[in-house]
Amino acid sequence: MDETAVIDAVPKQLFVGGSWTDATGGATFDVHDPANGSVLCSVADATPEDGMAAMQAAVKSQPAMAALTPRERADVLTKAFQLLHERIDDLALLMTLEMGKPLAEARGEISYAAEFFRHFAAEAVRIDGGYQTAPAGNQRFLITKQPVGPCILITPWNFPMAMGTRKLGPAIAAGCASVIKPAPQTPLSMLALVDILTEAGLPEGGVNVITCTDANGVIEPMIRSGLARKLSFTGSTKVGKILLEQCAEKVLRTSMELGGNAPFIVFEDADLDEAVAGLMVAKMRNMGEACTAANRIYVHESIIDEFGRRIADTMSGLTVGRGTQEGVNVGPLIDQAAVDKVTRLVDDAVSKGASVITGGSTIDGDGYFFSPTVLTGVAKDAALNAEEIFGPVAPLTPFREEDEVITMANSTRYGLVGYVFTNDLRRAIRVSESLEFGMVGLNSGLVSNPYAPFGGVKESGLGREGGSIGIDEFLETKYIGITVS
Ligand code: ADP
Repeated sequence: MDETAVIDAVPKQLFVGGSWTDATGGATFDVHDPANGSVLCSVADATPEDGMAAMQAAVKSQPAMAALTPRERADVLTKAFQLLHERIDDLALLMTLEMGKPLAEARGEISYAAEFFRHFAAEAVRIDGGYQTAPAGNQRFLITKQPVGPCILITPWNFPMAMGTRKLGPAIAAGCASVIKPAPQTPLSMLALVDILTEAGLPEGGVNVITCTDANGVIEPMIRSGLARKLSFTGSTKVGKILLEQCAEKVLRTSMELGGNAPFIVFEDADLDEAVAGLMVAKMRNMGEACTAANRIYVHESIIDEFGRRIADTMSGLTVGRGTQEGVNVGPLIDQAAVDKVTRLVDDAVSKGASVITGGSTIDGDGYFFSPTVLTGVAKDAALNAEEIFGPVAPLTPFREEDEVITMANSTRYGLVGYVFTNDLRRAIRVSESLEFGMVGLNSGLVSNPYAPFGGVKESGLGREGGSIGIDEFLETKYIGITVS
């Protein structure tokens, strides 16, 4: 399909109780192409009443979802996995149009997103329990797992499809009905995904979608109603904290994937080719708009000049442009606010003594472009050491001692992921264990994998998504005490 056909094919309404409906009052909001600022289409702008209707629909559907056999849940996910692959070209184009990432990356994300469904299809049929004899011998403990109940799922704009499947996969596998709310910048991928899940045979109301601009106004009443039993959120730490407070009232289960501030450490014994390639992935995947993006790059002082030169050469050779164009490696940022933030952080670092080796500025013309940038001599108190850059900017800082770099790496309120490049086995283990992060990329610039437990510590979040424990976030453990004598 061409661009217009791909946009036209997506439903633009709310999906509540198995039907596509307009928002109450008929309000809509525009979705933009970040490569040129043009309006792609408009979608329904849900009111708080629409949010509550979606919540009620999930509650109504919960018994049917829980009653699906494990095999039936697995079959829905497997069918949806297949449909995602069958439609990968159109879905990738749709994602590039609304989010900006180059087509090759969008295709990669559809494939990654589909993999969550394949993984959780396999998990659905492996939910286990236990049987145990009480120490006194007179009782048996039967341990079983049940769906947690209706869920609210909230996703960000940076991975519009994968953040949806990462939550919907385990929710469906566990037998939970849900209401999902995508980010207003990128609602189209989620609307297409829900269409696919319906085609794959999900029961009416098993998944409901609301798109809206007033996230707080719509979501807060849903949380406070107590109708949901669980909230799974991926987004900023700031919003995550607000939601945790709201969830406290009715003691909702929560999974929180929040911000990151990843250190990327290159020791003097690292394989430099591998480290350069690793940084390009950890920094430039998704234009740097990832919570896993390398944010602070610490390089041993004996190799920093060479490493900096090689990174700058690679960064300056990247082609920036609209993600739909052949050969483009770096798309636009999501919106003007993102460009303003990256500009502010680079200007601040430069004003505190950093040098720009390449890039360093916005690109003239339509769209929200920022040039791939390498900075050296970044001062410790530069704002970008404390804040997520969320853009194509690599700030390099030298270090001398292992202890020193571990202290610098851990001196953040975040704890999602850290990257370490070294060929010294003992150091690799020592440093990996010392980093206060939920994940470590050891000689690897990519940790995201549906088959591994993704998640952070400290202010980066609660819980894990993916891996064999990912489904537990959507299950309650129940124990039945049985008297036998
Ligand atoms: P970002 O700054 O990357 O956009 P946010 O945390 O603001 O990250 O947004 C992530 C998701 O959370 C989006 O779907 C957004 O609409 C939603 N969101 C933002 N504020 C709230 C809120 N107060 N309540 C519920 N959802 C919210």
